Amino acid sequence: MAASLENMGYIVAGQTGRGEIAIRQIEELRPDLVLMDIRLQGQMHGIEAAEYIHAHFDIPVVFISAHSDTITMQSAIRAQAYGYLIKPFDERDLRYNIITALYKHGMERKLRESEERYALAVRAANDGIWDWNLKANEIYFSHRWKDILGYKAEEIGNDPNEWISRVHPDHKNRVQTDLASHVKGLTPLFECEYLIRHSNGKYLWVLSRGLAVRDANGKVYRMAGSHSDIAARKLAEERLAHDALHDALTGLPNRVLFMDRLENRLERTKRSPDDLFALMFIDLDRFKVVNDSLGHAVGDQLLITISHRLRLSLRPEDTISRLSGDEFAVLLHDVSDINDVHRVADRIKGQLVTTTLLGAVERSPSASIGIAIFNTTYSSAAELLRDADLAMYRAKALGGNRHQLFDETMQVSAIELLQLEEDLKHAAARKEWLVYYQPIVSLASNEIIGVEALVRWLHPKRGILQPSEFIHLAEETGHILSIGEFVLRTACLQVKAWRNAGHPNIWVSVNISSRQFQDQNMVEQVSQILSETELPSDGLRLEITERLAIHDTEYSIKIMKELQEMGVHTSLDDFGTGYSSLAYLNRFPLKFLKIDQSFIQDIQLDEKNESLVAAIIAMARSLGLEVVAEGVEKDEQLNFLRSQLCENVQGFLLSHPVTAMELTKLLK
Ligand code: C2E
Ligand code: MG
Ligand code: MG
Repeated sequence: MAASLENMGYIVAGQTGRGEIAIRQIEELRPDLVLMDIRLQGQMHGIEAAEYIHAHFDIPVVFISAHSDTITMQSAIRAQAYGYLIKPFDERDLRYNIITALYKHGMERKLRESEERYALAVRAANDGIWDWNLKANEIYFSHRWKDILGYKAEEIGNDPNEWISRVHPDHKNRVQTDLASHVKGLTPLFECEYLIRHSNGKYLWVLSRGLAVRDANGKVYRMAGSHSDIAARKLAEERLAHDALHDALTGLPNRVLFMDRLENRLERTKRSPDDLFALMFIDLDRFKVVNDSLGHAVGDQLLITISHRLRLSLRPEDTISRLSGDEFAVLLHDVSDINDVHRVADRIKGQLVTTTLLGAVERSPSASIGIAIFNTTYSSAAELLRDADLAMYRAKALGGNRHQLFDETMQVSAIELLQLEEDLKHAAARKEWLVYYQPIVSLASNEIIGVEALVRWLHPKRGILQPSEFIHLAEETGHILSIGEFVLRTACLQVKAWRNAGHPNIWVSVNISSRQFQDQNMVEQVSQILSETELPSDGLRLEITERLAIHDTEYSIKIMKELQEMGVHTSLDDFGTGYSSLAYLNRFPLKFLKIDQSFIQDIQLDEKNESLVAAIIAMARSLGLEVVAEGVEKDEQLNFLRSQLCENVQGFLLSHPVTAMELTKLLK
């Protein structure tokens, strides 16, 4: 036989008559095939040796035997024999047996490997497996498949209904059509994501995939596939989709989502132009100060509070968004006329201004609101937003805590604004600041008792700019600190000069911006400038707007006290515009009140305002405060104020703000 084998081109690696020796040789030589008699010399039986070889070496064994009885054959099969040659046999039998054994063994190995690979992959993927026998209409469900649905192995049988009946009613149709399409050969793979009922009654997201196996006629007789729990992925996807469109801090829609809604709204209104809407751009006043002085955590807390308050001021269908930082936007649906918009803006301002505890201090937040109302000239959401932004900017420039409707005159180009910001950087070095003075006149003596210092910017290209054109920008960019210092020093020097020139009691009132007021060094700086200019402290008064003072009352009181100890008086500017109450007033160590010009200018126009002015004057007197009425332009206004025993007046009627030289003449 050895000669026959070599004839066929095989190498005979070893020969022996004994099982034990055969095993040792196999271990050493690792042949591709073993031809073995069932009956061997020595102790070991051929069946036994074959079993050992099969178990340890994965090498096919072909038996050669003279016995062809059933019992011998069966025990040979049990020993995993790959062939059985019955003696005597010819060379052809031998050849086919060897070829078949090697082929079968090779196939088995491949199958085993692929099965192992598959089992491993499935285990790693943690998927359930199903295997559908379409002829018998039975499905094998793996343990993991049942486990995903919360069942034990024995609790689910092999009826296809165990699967289909649990699919969510809304998804059942889709699962069945997808299965059918694949069976029909319309899809290369069955793949479907759907909800299926868990044993706890809840629905669970799963992904099923499967592949049909077809017979020679293309008819499907089997289909098998996987079943994975994708709840976590679905959740992550949903969260991702939500996060991509919402602001993490406040949970409000972000700019992307807001612009999308705005765009949709715009399209809708283009189709039915009577269906008006408005866009509000809301920017918090002095938010940067809160963030810088109290820290980001407090700033975040304020933004959350603001988002709640905005919600409270609006109807559920209006969209609120946080665009960025301290910028919010509101899409107001169903606006019937402009008054609606004013009403909503007032409601928002009223809600925002309620004091809130930030960290350890009380603040009364406020915002500047710009409003653009849809008209047919708008072709994109971005244009509307740009106009609302411009209007907001104007509201800021006018001092904040107000709302402003957009109008065409506001179309200051962004480039112009950038240019202004650039110019602002150089203004200090080029000494472009001017200080004007406006007299404050005592009605008792008809004399100028003091002046208010008002800054102007002598812009190299644009001439003299008014504070409304640049103070806001200076405040935003921080340049206000150097401007403020310059005005303080210049005003003190000037008053010192006037005092020396025969007006020994004159004083100057200097406006303090919120940035300056929040600056810890402000008091120190004032005292420094006073000693530097040798001006007695009663020659300087500081004006703080009512809104700034009540923004953080504890802090304001502390600073005002420090100034008072130094002999510098403070006054409340623009009184009447800042929602303050009497309770606040007597807590502030104040010297005088400046009644806002809006009240004065309405005298003679509106009786309610007259009585309001009268009441403010009376109240101030009872609190021991001096009053200055601002913005007096007409004789009637002056007469009314005189009748109410108002002490001091300031306004164009008496003099516009003028240069120091001109004021020197007025003093004379
Ligand atoms: P304010 O402190 O309330 O100053 C009074 C404003 O009213 C001045 O405007 C003044 O020119 C104007 N005014 C005076 N009399 C009349 C009148 O009879 N009728 C009318 N319609 N207006 C009158 P101005 O100079 O444009 O200043 C505007 C605001 O800019 C000031 O309001 C103040 O808040 C701010 N500001 C001015 N100078 C400075 C400064 O040096 N530092 C700071 N931080 N702010 C300043
Ligand atoms: Mg002032
Ligand atoms: Mg004022």
